[in-house]
Amino acid sequence: MNKLPKTRNEVFTELWPSEPAFRLKQLEQALFDPQIKTWAGVSTLSKEQRQRLTDETPWISVAAVSTQGSSSGDSYKAVLELSDGACIETVLMANKRDAWTVCISSQVGCAMRCQFCATGRLGLKRNLNIDEIVDQYRFWQGYLLKHPKLSQRISNMVVMGMGEPLVNYESVRDALRILIRTAGLGPTRIAVSTVGNLFGMERLLDDPDWPPVRLAISLHSADPELRKKLMPSSVPKFHELLTGWSRRYIKKHGNRRHHLTFEYLLLDGINDSVADAKQLAKYVKKIGKVKVNLISYNVTGETMAASSAERTKAFADELRAHGVDVTRRRSLGSDIAAACGQLAGK
Ligand code: SAH
Repeated sequence: MNKLPKTRNEVFTELWPSEPAFRLKQLEQALFDPQIKTWAGVSTLSKEQRQRLTDETPWISVAAVSTQGSSSGDSYKAVLELSDGACIETVLMANKRDAWTVCISSQVGCAMRCQFCATGRLGLKRNLNIDEIVDQYRFWQGYLLKHPKLSQRISNMVVMGMGEPLVNYESVRDALRILIRTAGLGPTRIAVSTVGNLFGMERLLDDPDWPPVRLAISLHSADPELRKKLMPSSVPKFHELLTGWSRRYIKKHGNRRHHLTFEYLLLDGINDSVADAKQLAKYVKKIGKVKVNLISYNVTGETMAASSAERTKAFADELRAHGVDVTRRRSLGSDIAAACGQLAGK
């Protein structure tokens, strides 16, 4: 592993200690212009400034090792190498707006060790820095420019790739702020998915700098014992704590465009019975206005299987019968191992 170079923010701060905000804004415009490909191309900088930036920080902190498109053409996966040689994965998925949703990673690997997730098996290597998070988006911008037949519009973003975003709280938050102000992504077009890291969840509730993005909590079971088995990071009394937190979150942020989502991965014979659905409905109804997003399992090992279409339907029907707002996540990219939980950065 090589040492990481300075981040853009570090070099900018050294160059312009007295007027960082103004310079930052100006440079961010250039960074998000896919026509500009190097520091040398930023015409608002002096020759010396361009040289110093070129020497000290990369124009883009990620480089594609490989890119792969799914057979249906509705998703693309890239393995990106970082300046220290570590690799992450990022995915582009077609959405209903005739545009793309970018799925970005927040860490190299992940420490959460969810039993169903391929990234969890890697363990955590390190957090991504702000540049590395922002640059996954910039990478896809450049990719689309090189593929003019594809829709050129990225309309949404999900932080659902490798890693637990709330464990890398500050870099994720600050990267999202940059993306919102410069890439023109509205905060409700961004969703951050968390394993249920209560520390980060509490923090964002009181953080004036946390942008009003959507949040999705990976719940996966309303039963504490089962959830702990599936998700070893689950803390004692998680469900009670989540209830309290959710109520406060909804009070603060809930509105027509902004709802809280619980993700629920359906695992055959493990958490997908009608009784499980009943227990989930009871739990969710107690909290209030929460959406449940059902996810089909993308197989990553030998011990678990995806729920059948029939069991999935019965589960969803049971939730609806109890008045729960249910959505299904479309699974894209499973043929290129780009679906949820399959990212391993190999
Ligand atoms: N660490 C965050 C975000 C990354 S995972 C989190 O846990 O939410 C994004 C979503 O994909 C989570 O809901 C996660 O539980 C789910 N997921 C993980 N492995 C999966 C798999 N093999 N098939 C389908 N979804 C999976």
